[in-house]
Amino acid sequence: MTSPPTTRWRERPPSHDSKHDEHWQRLQDGRRFRMEQLAALKADNPATPRHESVTRVLHTSASVALAEIDAALARMEQGRYGQCVSCGRQIDDERLAVLPMASLCMNCHYNRQNCNLADAAHWGRG
Ligand SMILES: [Zn+2]
Repeated sequence: MTSPPTTRWRERPPSHDSKHDEHWQRLQDGRRFRMEQLAALKADNPATPRHESVTRVLHTSASVALAEIDAALARMEQGRYGQCVSCGRQIDDERLAVLPMASLCMNCHYNRQNCNLADAAHWGRG
């Protein structure tokens, strides 16, 4: 096996945000899951180009998910967890309960999604 990840987070959630303890725990679980997934994909030895492209897509989505989790943990460390990174408003508790790594409030999320859709339409690909 290779060496463990270099980034080290606290053993316990940052104390200034005890109401986010549960989210912290879920983020930790999600992080561990993604690390294992990435390690498994790295160990995977694709036999066909098709297999290889599937592996690449999985690797990309796992990397993106891991980056989102790390960003959420970093915001928690800084005491900014639960704030929309775009408009600064408080993200709904219900949204965080479903998506603990959410960085955008519903409004900004949908605005951004609409932008992406408009881009995709403009460039003629999704
Ligand atoms: Zn927002």
